[in-house]
Amino acid sequence: MMRKSMKKVILGTVCAAFLMMSTGCSAVSSITGGGYTSDEPCAWCGETPTKEFETSEGTPCYICEEHTHECGVCGKNFDEELNHYTNLMGIEMFACDECYQDVQEMNQN
Ligand SMILES: [Zn+2]
Ligand SMILES: [Zn+2]
Repeated sequence: MMRKSMKKVILGTVCAAFLMMSTGCSAVSSITGGGYTSDEPCAWCGETPTKEFETSEGTPCYICEEHTHECGVCGKNFDEELNHYTNLMGIEMFACDECYQDVQEMNQN
């Protein structure tokens, strides 16, 4: 009897810890806006905070939230982080699904 209740207490503690961890994580990401925690200037506009991305050369590239949500080809704004690729200047370029596909096709030719 003793053992069974002990097990329940431990299980309950573990569950509570997991719950706290998951709510803690989501609270943090809502404050920082999903990983935009770097104070490096945005490669496009120089604004902060930014998020670190890796270019095709493996070097870090910092982009602000605005420029990860704005298509660099057609200029439209989106609610989600867009597809990205490294442009000729070595800067991460963000594009919506449609434009991204066009770019991929262009690069293949
Ligand atoms: Zn920017
Ligand atoms: Zn576009």
